[in-house]
This record gives sequence, C-alpha cells and structure tokens, in this order.
Amino acid sequence: MQEALALPGNPSSVHAEGRAARHLIEHAREDVARLVGVRPANVTFTSSGTEANMLALSPAIETAAEKRPRDKLLISAIEHSSVRAGGRFAREAIADIAADADGRVDLTALADALSRTSRPLVSIMLANNETGVVQPIAEAAALVHAANGLLHVDAVQAAGRIAGDMTALGADLLTLSGHKIGGGKGTGALVRANEAIHFADPLIRGGGQERGMRAGTENVAGIAAFGAAALAAHRQLATEAAHMLALRTELEEGLRAISPQAVIFGAAAERLPNTTLFALEGVKAETAIIAMDLEGVAVSSGAACSSGKVQPSHVLAAMGVSPPLTRGALRVSWGWTTTKGDVERFLNAWRKVSGALSKGSKEQRGIAA
Ligand code: PLP
Repeated sequence: MQEALALPGNPSSVHAEGRAARHLIEHAREDVARLVGVRPANVTFTSSGTEANMLALSPAIETAAEKRPRDKLLISAIEHSSVRAGGRFAREAIADIAADADGRVDLTALADALSRTSRPLVSIMLANNETGVVQPIAEAAALVHAANGLLHVDAVQAAGRIAGDMTALGADLLTLSGHKIGGGKGTGALVRANEAIHFADPLIRGGGQERGMRAGTENVAGIAAFGAAALAAHRQLATEAAHMLALRTELEEGLRAISPQAVIFGAAAERLPNTTLFALEGVKAETAIIAMDLEGVAVSSGAACSSGKVQPSHVLAAMGVSPPLTRGALRVSWGWTTTKGDVERFLNAWRKVSGALSKGSKEQRGIAA
C-alpha cells in the first residue's frame, strides 16, 4: 500500500507512471483471482463489499444462455444488510428464504421458492457475519442451477478463513471485501465465475474502467493492499485456520466453564474458526460491551446499531431465538495475529464482567445472588 501511495500515475494513462500504477492493479487482480480460483479478468474491483453486493443484485445480469432480466431475487433471511437491501430489484420481486435453528439456510424452503420462479437470482452468504455459521452453498448451487437460476455468494466473512474456490462452491458471482482479509478499508471485489456473465446495467458508468463494469479511477493503494492480503490469505489459509480453530476451542471451553448457562449460537453447525456469538441471559450486550472495553477487550454485539438505537439481530430472529437472549448477544472474533494470551485476557475480563453484571441483574430482579 505504501509503495502504491508513492506512485503519482493514473492507471488509465499510457505513460510510464500510469503503467506502473496499472501494473500494481493487475498484479493485485491476479492475487485476488487466485484466492477464489478464477481467471484475473473475472475480478471487478469496487469500493467495498457493499458496493459489490449492490452491483451483483441486478435483474439485468446476462449470461451466455440468458439475456432476459431475472424475474426474482431470492435472499436468505440471515444475509448482511447490504444484501437484505435487495440491490436494484423492486421490493415485490424479492422473496426470503428461511433459516433453521442452527443458523443454516433451509434448503427445502429454497427449493420451494425456486419452484415459483423462472429466471431467479439467488443470494446466499458463504458464512454468516454474526454467528460464523457456514452455509450449504454447493447444495444450494445445485438447486439454483437446476431451476435456471444464478447464484451470488457473499464471501466477505468467509474469505481467508475457509476455502472459497468458486468452482467447488458452484457460485456464479462472489463478493469479497479487502478489509476483512487484512487489506485496507474501502476496497471490495465482485468476482464472476466466467466471462460470459455480463452486467448490462453497471452501478457506476463513466470512463470505462474495470472493463466497463465499474467506472471511476481505481483506488490503486487500496487495491494493492487487497492483492497483498489475498496472496497472504491464500498461502496461509490452512495454517491460519488451524491456529484460529485452536483458539476458538480454548475460548469456548473457557466461556462454558465461567458461564455454564451461556448459549453459543450455531454451536451445532459448521462455523468459521474465528467467530463466536454467545449470550448469557440477564446480561445486556450494550452494558457488557462497555464493561469489556474498559477491561481493554473489544467485542461487538450481534445486533446492528443504527441512529443510536440497537435493533434486535435479524439473524437470531430468523433462528427463532427469543428477545431476552438476542438482547445479550455478544460477538467475539479474532484473526491471525491473535494469541493464546489474548484468549486468556478475554476470559479473565469476561469472568470479571459477567460476574458483576449477572449479580447486578439478579439484584435488580430481587433474586438473592
Ligand atoms: N457482507 C458481509 C457478510 C459483511 O460482514 C460485510 C461487512 O461487515 C459486508 C458484506 C460489507 O462489506 P464492506 O464493509 O466492505 O462494505
């Protein structure tokens, strides 16, 4: 990124300075393509995962076999808000696919919804950003393709943590975000499984950059960092995943020992190695986040906070979790730099915070602690 920041050239210029900037972008494109097993020409850089999702969710996506607009958008009930917003589909053309109690997309519900469409676009994430639950993408892809549909997969949370080869997944379109794999903030990519997939209605038109699919001078430094992060993620996937999984086991065993009543959401399902979403009844997420922050530990809530109002998590609601527990959902996530010492620090902080907050909550309810 620092190297790229020092380059003055515009990547669309033909002079030497411009070519140097172009070289960095194309190099990064190769590294991002390798992470998901496609040809570099199939990677379109965007400003974020959100923008890539917006670009993907258009009725005007054409394939070699189908040029007519997609008639329906099917999205799972547990998608990120950037997918839940529905892209450029009309509200009445969007239908939900339910999830089960373990936080997995319900494939029977998907098959049922597909039977009422003729050219659907389906969007299902590879792993959920709150629970970390890994979705049955290959099975969903088989159903979608049998119904003449296209499958978009939001792999923002899963990339670099589990394998994300597009051919193995059966995804037609796939979203990535640079900052989730250690690149700079403000980069994303929409990846096509093949070059015949064409966006007849790009989100941003203008100078023809990114093969006409995303106009605007490229964020050269951000893209260079995204490429470097993709290369590292690809090379280190197996070792990093094993390291993160060992930390998850330690963290969850410790958590269960300190708070036997705590519920770990999606615990029965396959999950990302770096995410735990849990709740302890009587302990409110907002209070716990502040108390943990004071102990020097940064955790987040499973709920989305907008305009100062904490909304209950739509993911937990889709899993059928009841409000007293959803209000307490805390998400802990970690990465390749996290150590066993960090997990111990988290557990020590949790022991202190949960003890104090559960005592306070019992006293408030008039129960002897
Ligand atoms: N999709 C998922 C699953 C996410 O978790 C996020 C961000 O947290 C996004 C999309 C949006 O990505 P970005 O922050 O790059 O816009």
